[in-house]
Amino acid sequence: MVETRDAAESRREFFRLAAGAAAVAAGAALLDAGTGGRAEAGLPAGAIPAGSDEVLRMTVDLRRALEKKPAERRWGMVIDTRRCIGCSACTVACVAENNLPVGVKYRTVPEVEDGTYPNVSRIFMPTNCAQCENPPCVPAANKVIPGSMKGRVDGIVEIDYRKMKGKAVFAAATKACPYSALSLDEGKAHTAGTPALQPYENRAAVEYGKAWSRKETAGAVRKCHFCAQRLDAGMLPACVTTCTGVAMHFGDLSDPRSLVAELAATGMARRLEPARGTNPRIWYLDDFPEDAGTHPGVKTRKVVSCGSCHEFDEKK
Ligand code: SF4
Ligand code: SF4
Repeated sequence: MVETRDAAESRREFFRLAAGAAAVAAGAALLDAGTGGRAEAGLPAGAIPAGSDEVLRMTVDLRRALEKKPAERRWGMVIDTRRCIGCSACTVACVAENNLPVGVKYRTVPEVEDGTYPNVSRIFMPTNCAQCENPPCVPAANKVIPGSMKGRVDGIVEIDYRKMKGKAVFAAATKACPYSALSLDEGKAHTAGTPALQPYENRAAVEYGKAWSRKETAGAVRKCHFCAQRLDAGMLPACVTTCTGVAMHFGDLSDPRSLVAELAATGMARRLEPARGTNPRIWYLDDFPEDAGTHPGVKTRKVVSCGSCHEFDEKK
């Protein structure tokens, strides 16, 4: 479902005008008006009401989750690779939202080859920090610099930019992370020497509920944080609202009424490298059933366009 600019503006206006509980009630009423099921093959009828706007529904889900205590939320993503067209609008939105400097990427959209000749296909597979439930990066980083990383009660894995600085801690956390989610901020700027460094590059980074000066972020290890600053303001992550194919889904996995919980429970959703026991909070949906490891022609997946990402483990 790709909406027109007018439709997007109307939706933004709706949420600008309708605040807090009023927005939740109004959105829920709109969704209740939907009928039927999601068009894509393989998803159970009724998984998503036809005629409803998924971004609207996820925003309603988000605001319902924000009424709960943080420890009762379980933020997660479901990425539908069948809808991703590889445009990387999400990556650009992430850079803009988080004012990311040269060399720092919170998400990539690698092109992944699937199967073996002659049954080969390629998909785009957006990737970012999965805010693992058992994040191996945290003990690895804290062993080098205590207090560098921690898991928040809502599941977001947080970095303390004042502490987690330098190549040693970056190397330790990167070695532990199965998903290549971390970047080292080397303090570079896009506009350096152009000839003048532009003031916007020195703006504070508002992440993890704090405003970090450029002095604090320079030299630090950085990664996706599910746009925690936007969640705090009742907004979905920037990559989710920007995705042209509406491939990105976000919400509270502990809420069975949420779209992400519904999609994660379809039986088609899988997680990367499950054998590692990290329990990532990102699920992927694609054309293959859960037992895709035995699907003819789908024995392997390898990344063909981005060296910073990993193979897709078909076995859950
Ligand atoms: S994806 Fe990597 S960086 Fe993110 S929480 Fe998991 S192990 Fe840590
Ligand atoms: S959730 Fe936010 S920080 Fe994470 S990849 Fe998406 S836009 Fe970037």
